[in-house]
Amino acid sequence: MFRNIVMCYTNTELECQELERHSKQMETKIIRMDIGQMDKEALVAAGRVIREGGLVAFPTETVYGLGGDALNPESSRKIYAAKGRPSDNPLIVHIADMDMLEAIVEEIPESVYRLAEAFWPGPLTMILKKSDKVPLQTTGGLDTVAVRMPSHVVAQAFIREAGGYVAAPSANLSGKPSPTTAKYVVQDMDGRIDMIIDADGVEIGLESTIVDMTGEVPMILRPGFITIDMLSKVIGPVEMDVALLEVDSKSQPKAPGMKYRHYAPKGELVIVEGEPEQVLAFINEACREHGMQGHKTGIIGTQECRMLYEADSVKCAGSREDTDAIARQLYTFLREFDDEGVEYMYSEAFDIGEKGQAIMNRLLKAAGHKIIKL
Ligand code: AMP
Ligand code: MG
Repeated sequence: MFRNIVMCYTNTELECQELERHSKQMETKIIRMDIGQMDKEALVAAGRVIREGGLVAFPTETVYGLGGDALNPESSRKIYAAKGRPSDNPLIVHIADMDMLEAIVEEIPESVYRLAEAFWPGPLTMILKKSDKVPLQTTGGLDTVAVRMPSHVVAQAFIREAGGYVAAPSANLSGKPSPTTAKYVVQDMDGRIDMIIDADGVEIGLESTIVDMTGEVPMILRPGFITIDMLSKVIGPVEMDVALLEVDSKSQPKAPGMKYRHYAPKGELVIVEGEPEQVLAFINEACREHGMQGHKTGIIGTQECRMLYEADSVKCAGSREDTDAIARQLYTFLREFDDEGVEYMYSEAFDIGEKGQAIMNRLLKAAGHKIIKL
């Protein structure tokens, strides 16, 4: 019951009832796939599940996706139910070949071809005007569709077996951190979906960059591994949705999903920003106080401070300069805190370099925008 209360905070009562009905109703087949030697038979079976209207969680280079047939409204409905996701939060359609793009969009601007050439397959999602082929259930009622071509070899083979169009949000229960290992897909989805493909190579750790290509100037709606500079080098000026990085989040973000509470651990997470020594002292003191009251504490820091932090659970992502390593491990740290029963968490701020934008965007949401500036 507790599980359902936790995952229902972003949903209406009706959606929660739906979720309850769908919980633990089926046997979930778990398949381990070797990326060096893919099991063709298993991939065909996974593709068949999608063609027949079922759901399969699969690895991509960013995070695990929860896939269904993007052109089947009933499949999209099932995805929302399995995740407990509000149905106005559109799904990303995953393709494996450029030829597949034309059928699902109205027109393809020249700049889309150039970005595809530069970054597909890879962690970039582009929003385009949708064609009639894409049901409104998949796009959350919008007349645009988000499309991505992942580079993970298992994802590509699976999408082709599935018929070419796999709608897939991240394979977590709504509100929880996106899964970067199959263990956490099983934790959230066992009994709710038909199959889980477990494979290595989920290495980026944060969801794709989303760029809206329908306006005059392309606009980033969700920061990610592909940065604004990388995009601008290929297509010229690109804007950033300002609502994304504002700490007080007064303005509404343009991607419907970005307004929801996300990536949240069960305990309370606070980000602390300032000079490293001050941050260290503040976090240690806060943890000491919580500890004295009998609460379990956790810290997300960097290698530079590893030996100096004092908490029940200290997670270090590597060097402060290595933003890729921080991105890769962030969601796992948040999930591990849950596993360990940590109640109060503190994280350093990671607004360093261009990748820092994507990390801080996720971290701020996980913390419910609680940030202390020293
Ligand atoms: P997820 O699948 O969990 O990575 O979430 C997909 C994200 O893409 C959500 O934040 C959605 O709101 C966003 N998204 C998907 N389709 C569209 C669209 N057509 N327009 C704007 N945002 C979209
Ligand atoms: Mg997600």
